[in-house]
Amino acid sequence: MTCKACTGQIGLAADWRPHSRLRAPGSAGTAGYAASPNQKLYACSDCGTVLLKGRNTGWSLALKTA
Ligand SMILES: [Zn+2]
Repeated sequence: MTCKACTGQIGLAADWRPHSRLRAPGSAGTAGYAASPNQKLYACSDCGTVLLKGRNTGWSLALKTA
């Protein structure tokens, strides 16, 4: 289940900072999720949700690659 902090992060613009429970970009837990070179993956240490931050697209829910 996605925690409240992650739910609130989704849809924000890219210049918003990651919430405090998000680990450093690309940490363990983000393996298997798709990101392009100008996007970063953040795993939440509370709920395990992986969020994607794109420079132009802002924050969204990351998608698993197959
Ligand atoms: Zn979370």
